[in-house]
Amino acid sequence: MTEVRVARKVEINGIVQGVGFRPFVYQLANRYDLKGEVANTSAGVAIHIEGLPNNIESFSKDLPRKCPPLAHITEIVLHEEPVRDFKDFTIVISREQTVMTTLISPDVAVCDDCRRELFDSHDRRFEYPFINCTNCGPRYTIIDDMPYDRPKTSMKHFTMCPTCQAEYDDPANRRFHAQPNACSECGPHIELYDNTRQKVATPKPLEKTAELLKQGGIVALKGLGGFHLAVDAENGQAVETLRKRKLREEKPLALMSYDVECIRRFAQVQPQEEKLLISPQRPIVLVLKKEPHSISETVAPGNRYFGVMLPYTPLHYLLLNYGFTALVMTSGNLSEEPICIDNDDAFKRLSAIADYFLIHNRDIYLRSDDSIVRKTAGATRFIRRSRGYVPIPVFLNKKIPPILACGAELKNTICLTKDNNAFLSQHIGDLENLETYDFFLLTIRHMQRILDIQPEIIAFDLHPDYLSTRYAREQQEIQKVQVQHHHAHIVSAMAENQIDGSVIGLSFDGTGYGTDGNIWGGEILVADMKKFSRAAHLAYVPMPGSAAAIKEPWRMAVSYLYDAVGSDFYDLDLPLLNAVDSQKIKIMVGMVDKKVNSPLTSSLGRLFDGIAAICGIRYKVAFEGQAAMELEMMASDNVKDVYDYEWKTADGHQILTRPIICGVVKDMAQGIAQAVISCKFHQTLIRMFSDLCEVIRKENGLNRVVLSGGVFQNSLLLTGLINALEKRKFKVFSHSKVPANDGGISLGQALVAAAVADKI
Ligand code: ZN
Ligand code: ZN
Ligand code: FE
Repeated sequence: MTEVRVARKVEINGIVQGVGFRPFVYQLANRYDLKGEVANTSAGVAIHIEGLPNNIESFSKDLPRKCPPLAHITEIVLHEEPVRDFKDFTIVISREQTVMTTLISPDVAVCDDCRRELFDSHDRRFEYPFINCTNCGPRYTIIDDMPYDRPKTSMKHFTMCPTCQAEYDDPANRRFHAQPNACSECGPHIELYDNTRQKVATPKPLEKTAELLKQGGIVALKGLGGFHLAVDAENGQAVETLRKRKLREEKPLALMSYDVECIRRFAQVQPQEEKLLISPQRPIVLVLKKEPHSISETVAPGNRYFGVMLPYTPLHYLLLNYGFTALVMTSGNLSEEPICIDNDDAFKRLSAIADYFLIHNRDIYLRSDDSIVRKTAGATRFIRRSRGYVPIPVFLNKKIPPILACGAELKNTICLTKDNNAFLSQHIGDLENLETYDFFLLTIRHMQRILDIQPEIIAFDLHPDYLSTRYAREQQEIQKVQVQHHHAHIVSAMAENQIDGSVIGLSFDGTGYGTDGNIWGGEILVADMKKFSRAAHLAYVPMPGSAAAIKEPWRMAVSYLYDAVGSDFYDLDLPLLNAVDSQKIKIMVGMVDKKVNSPLTSSLGRLFDGIAAICGIRYKVAFEGQAAMELEMMASDNVKDVYDYEWKTADGHQILTRPIICGVVKDMAQGIAQAVISCKFHQTLIRMFSDLCEVIRKENGLNRVVLSGGVFQNSLLLTGLINALEKRKFKVFSHSKVPANDGGISLGQALVAAAVADKI
C-alpha cells in the first residue's frame, strides 16, 4: 500500500530574508523528497510542501535546527493544506510587498567558506576584497529601502558579470540571491591615495598599504560601517602621532589581529571571550592584557584591558595577513564627531590625520561603529551595541504601539517599536555637535523607512536642553511622553529581561535630570513601567562649576571634602591639596558657599570621580568616566573591609557620603595604598546598597532588584552586587542585550511611554 501524500503550509517569521533561507529550504525539501514552493512574504517566508507525512515531519524538525547561521526565527506556524500535486520544488521570486514587517539582517563577518576561497589561489575570487555570500557580508549598512533586493542597496551601481549572475540565479549555489554578490570582474574595487588625493601608483594597493603601515604611516581605511584609522600597534611613535592628530589623548584605542593566536601574544583570552571574538558579529572584546607584550603602551594607558577584534571583512583579512601582531583600528573621525562613511567626506575631514587613504567604491548608506562588549559575571555586557547586532530587535514580552524614543544626550541611540519588537539604532554618539545631530535625524528617517514604522508616540528625556528633547518637542501631531532618565534606565533593563510589575531599581550613572531639577545619578527607585518613586538616593552635594566638575574631578573632591569636614579640609595631608593651586580650591569653596554655578547632584559617578581625586589617582579627565575607570582598574582584590556608611531617613533614604569620605581621608593619612582604598570603597558600596535593598524589601515587599546605568560598566561593582544580593535571596536582573549606559536608555523610554499612554 502506498502512503498518502499530505500537504502543509509553513510560515516562518524572523530574520529569514537575505540570509540564504530559501536555498536552504530548497535543499531541505529535496533531501526529503518534498514538492511545492517557497517564497518571501511581507512577514517572512512561506513554504508549501507536499509529500509523505514522515518526511514532512523530518523537514519541519530540521527547519529551525539546521537553518543558515544568519537566520533568526521568531515564529513557525504550520497549517494543513490541500494537496496540489506539485511536480517539483521551486523558489518563487519575490514581488514588491506592500506591508514590510520582515526583519533585516545586520552586517556579518566574512564566513569560513568565503575566507577559504579568498586565500585559494585557484579560486576566481582569490584575494578579492569584497567576496561574500548569503551567509556573510554587508547588509544593514548598504540597504536603502525594503524589501531587501539588490536595486535597493548600494550594489545597484554594479551589474553582475555572467558568472556572478549564474551563481545568483542558481538555488543550489551559496550565492543564490546574495544581493552584494560580486567578483573582481564586475564588483567594487579598492584604490590607494595619499592625503592630497593623489592616486598612489601601485599594482598592489594592499601590499603597498601594509608597507606604509609598517613604516609608521597612518592609513584611513574604508570598511563596512565607516572609515577606520589604522596604524601598526607595535609602533609607539605612530600610535602617538595618531592620538595627537585625532585629538584623542588618552581614551583606549581598539586593536585588530589576524586570529586569536595573535591576540594571545599580548592578551589573556578566556574561552568565553574567544567565543565572542570569533562570533559572526565580531565585536571589540575587552580582554586582560598579558605582560610583557609588544603592543605600544599608548594604546590603552591606565587600563588593564585591551579592546580587540578579529577581522570582519575580506579586506581586513588580506591586510592583517601581512604579518602584523595587531593594527590599531580606531574610528575614522575627529574626536567626538561621527565616523566618516563617504569618500569625499573622508578626504575632507581626515586629511589632517591620515597619511594615506585605502578606499573603495561600494557606498555605505548608514554608518555603524564597531560594537564593544565585555564578559562580566557570566554574561555578555554591551558597552556599545552597533555593527553586527543592529538592527536585530530586542524582543519584548508584549505588543506595543509604534513609538519613537529619542534617547539621551551622550552615547545616543534611538529606539523604534513595532508589535513586540524594539529596534535600537546603532550607536549615534554624543548629541553635542551639529554633525552628530544630523546623523541622529538621518538615522530616525532611515530606520522609519526600512522598518516601515510611523510612530504614534514620541518619548524623550526630561532634560529641557537636550537636542533630542528639542527635536521631540518640535514634532507635530504626535503624543509626547517625557521620561525621567533613571526611570528609563531601569525600565530598559526590565524590557530586555521581559519582566513586568514593580521592582527595586538601582539606577547608577553620572548625570540625569531629576524631577526636582537637580542632577541625579545615585538612585534607588521603586518602579514599574509606568511610574516610580525615589526610595533612596545619595545625599546632594554641589558640583562647583557644573559641567566643569565632570571634566575636573578635583572639583568634586573639594566639594565632598568640604561637605564632610568643613573648612578643616585645608589642613588635611592629601596629595590633591598640593597638586591643585590653593587659590583655585578657595574659589570652588566660595562658589559652593554662595551657591554660584554649583548645581546639586546625587550622582554615584561623581562620587567615584571624587574618591579618585582624593586618592590622587586623577584630577582631570580626558573622557567621561576615566577617573572612575582608573579607580576600578587599580583595585586590589583581597580586601574585605568596608568604610562606615550611613543614611538618614526623611523623604526616602538619603545616603550620606560623609562617613565614606572621612574613611578614605583617614586611610590616605595613614599611607594606605590606593589599591586597598579602591577595593574598600567598592566593598562599601556593595555592602551598603545591598543593606538598603533589604530595608526597601521590608518596606515594600519587593524581591526583584534591577541594575542599570553607566556605573554598572564597572565589573567589580556589578559582580559584587549581583553576588551579594543573590546571597540575600534577591532575584537580580541586569543588562546583557543592550548597554547599561545611556546607549540603552531609548529602549526604556519607549516602554515607559507605552505604559504612560496606557497602551500596555
Ligand atoms: Zn560567505
Ligand atoms: Zn562577477
Ligand atoms: Fe544615564
